[in-house]
Amino acid sequence: MKRIHPVYRPPLRHPRWLPWVAALPLFAVMAAFGIAPDTAPNQVPTETVVQALELPEPASTDIADDGSFDFWSEERIQRGDTLASLLDRLGVGAEDKARVITASRQAPALQRLIPGRTVLARVTASGQLLLLRYLATDERLVTLNRAQEGFVAEETAIHLDARPIMRSGEVRASLYGATDAADIPDSIASQMAEVFSGDIDFHRDLRRGDRFSVVYEAFYHEGKLIKTGRLLSAEFVNQGKRYRAVYFKDSHGREGYFTPQGQSVKRAFLKSPLPFSRISSGFSSARYHPVLKEWRAHRGIDYAAPTGTPVRAVADAVVSFAGWQGGYGNIVILDHQKPYSTAYGHLSRFAPGVKRGKRINQGDVIGYVGATGLATGPHLHYEFRVAGVQKDPLGLKLPTSFALDSRDRNRFLAESRPLVDRLELLQGTNLASFD
Ligand SMILES: [Zn+2]
Repeated sequence: MKRIHPVYRPPLRHPRWLPWVAALPLFAVMAAFGIAPDTAPNQVPTETVVQALELPEPASTDIADDGSFDFWSEERIQRGDTLASLLDRLGVGAEDKARVITASRQAPALQRLIPGRTVLARVTASGQLLLLRYLATDERLVTLNRAQEGFVAEETAIHLDARPIMRSGEVRASLYGATDAADIPDSIASQMAEVFSGDIDFHRDLRRGDRFSVVYEAFYHEGKLIKTGRLLSAEFVNQGKRYRAVYFKDSHGREGYFTPQGQSVKRAFLKSPLPFSRISSGFSSARYHPVLKEWRAHRGIDYAAPTGTPVRAVADAVVSFAGWQGGYGNIVILDHQKPYSTAYGHLSRFAPGVKRGKRINQGDVIGYVGATGLATGPHLHYEFRVAGVQKDPLGLKLPTSFALDSRDRNRFLAESRPLVDRLELLQGTNLASFD
């Protein structure tokens, strides 16, 4: 069945979840009404249904990233998680959080969350929960559906089908606007951003017209998405330059992403110290500009981000300084392979254990965005230094990381072929989704 992509959510004129329900494939619409018997079909405003069904084909809709899309949010349950903390991470607002907690009394599995399992939710940018799916065991699904009042919980026995899904999209206003439009779950969008984080600074480098394609694993039950799996291959065309990555596990057990030629896409340095996520990319306010100003006389890059946004080490390092330094406020300075070092200023606080002499791995959180020192608002001041002198990292040739050895490379070239072919197939198509 052809999928219809999520629908633009107009200003509140009718119950806000209706357009989305109307845009679901037919079987899902019936399912939604089937378990919410109070929701009589004649209460559905007719113009909403018509409007939803008349939407143009996926990806070609010109929708700004004003947070108007619903999206798939997925979170892994951590040790010590409560239903409330999990809902916070999923992006569910206070009102629906309380309703879910009430509804969870009908579903004991939701009160005994199992660490390591994932929860999938359909949420709106404003924090409304549309539905929630929790795979309590591989055969047992707990579903919460929005009803007239609150949520209705249901437990069912299921059988999961794994499917490779192919999607592509084009950036109009933001990456998440584009992945939402293509109905790509958040977990896949962030895996994609992570895979290309050595080549693309998604806070600074994104341009309107950038294109991407992804192939990923997803698990379905009767046509409904239950959970997503791994990103299998991806392509990103940034400012006309094409990057490709294919997942592979080599004979030494190392997993990673490689170019179709067998070169690791991992880089010794990340392009940005801020991880790219829906939150850090300005999830809650539409016109949020992540970068205050480009490289200037003050010899650094400023990333505007909410206080508390995690800041990560761009490369393996040893901490050379963590403390207060005049206008920088709280600053961490990291020494990398010679002659490189990086500095992170205006932090609100340091990550636990970050002090002089401590070894840090690439991607480790070293502190949190703040406005300490001479800062007019919360932002990260980031400096890249070569032999102690600030340089614009844009123009530098930085070291790359490993390539596959010849035996693995041959296996990789053979095994990656179908995934590269799928990217070829997606390239140039105007489809946001088909599965
Ligand atoms: Zn600065």
